[in-house]
Amino acid sequence: MSFPDLLPEIATRMPQLRGRVIANAMLADITWFRVGGPAQVLFTPADEADLAYFLVQLPREIPVVVIGLGSNLLVRDGGVPGVVVRLGRGFSRVEVEPGHRLRAGAVVPDAKLARAAADAGIAGLAFYRGVPGSVGGALRMNAGAHGRETREVLVEARAVDRDGNIHMLPLEAMQLTYRHCGVPDDWIFTEALFQGSPGEPAAILEQMEEVAEYREANQPIRERTGGSTFKNPPGSSAWKLIDQAGCRGLRVGGAKVSDMHCNFLINDRNATAEDVERLGETVRARVRETSGVTLQWEIIRLGLPKAGRPTGEALVEAFAQ
Ligand SMILES: Cc1cc2nc3c(=O)[nH]c(=O)nc-3n(C[C@H](O)[C@H](O)[C@H](O)COP(=O)(O)OP(=O)(O)OC[C@H]3O[C@@H](n4cnc5c(N)ncnc54)[C@H](O)[C@@H]3O)c2cc1C
Repeated sequence: MSFPDLLPEIATRMPQLRGRVIANAMLADITWFRVGGPAQVLFTPADEADLAYFLVQLPREIPVVVIGLGSNLLVRDGGVPGVVVRLGRGFSRVEVEPGHRLRAGAVVPDAKLARAAADAGIAGLAFYRGVPGSVGGALRMNAGAHGRETREVLVEARAVDRDGNIHMLPLEAMQLTYRHCGVPDDWIFTEALFQGSPGEPAAILEQMEEVAEYREANQPIRERTGGSTFKNPPGSSAWKLIDQAGCRGLRVGGAKVSDMHCNFLINDRNATAEDVERLGETVRARVRETSGVTLQWEIIRLGLPKAGRPTGEALVEAFAQ
């Protein structure tokens, strides 16, 4: 399927635009699950000023969503109407600042942030070695691992709102809680400042190596997946409830609950996004039946289903019929 081409309108309205715009760009190529339809427009701004210019000029009724490295995303089969922003090289700088601090652009991979911190003798950011997203995604999801999370190391973040205004957000304004950020959904993070503590590069690198080894042994990191599918409910683990509900290895179409870590869904046989979402909803229904707990999706689902197809819980009912 494809959407009406918005590029002529964008070209007319934005003669000074420097970034790249692509119509009907396949998102499956740039997300971990490798499923789903196109973005009506995929925009890669040249830098923050270009992004702000684009947002000011873009008609308000056209929806805008940003993606990072696509490691926590399920793009539905009908694609994403409006504009998908994907930051590029203009947001990839990492700079060491005095006081054991690092300033990083939103597109910097978390693992690169961890590496830069180690090289500079800045301890406290090694946990990012195991998170396969970008700084922007880490801010939005309050990414965390190995007992630490983003809110413990963040000083401030910079963001552009839907009207093109720039905001500096101190940690408190981010309202970071477990896999959640309180900043409006359509604000785009462009940069963040992180605080570490003094450390020995060799010791930090060793810690990062341990993180990497743990991941390799315990998570299906080489599969087409979206990481943890559901948030851990208070006082419990999503994977334990999924296991108790007998869902380890459960399959819908080309999608399967990972045998290695049952809070991960994997696309191992050319799944559609609907297969993955239906599998997730089936797991939620079974967990609710066996334990009374309603799991909440951690994975962000974007866009529309194929014409006439259901989404969310309605997928389970459609499957049962
Ligand atoms: C194998 C594997 C292991 C994982 N392990 C962990 C883990 O240990 N801990 C953990 O927390 N997560 C984990 N994840 C999930 C994922 O890596 C994190 O949520 C990560 O922070 C997502 O970053 P991303 O750049 O891929 O964002 P995306 O998946 O592209 O997007 C996720 C959300 O962030 C938003 N977003 C992205 N960039 C920006 C931006 N610049 N401004 C505003 N919003 C933005 C998107 O709109 C979307 O809502 C794992 C994923 C995989 C595949």
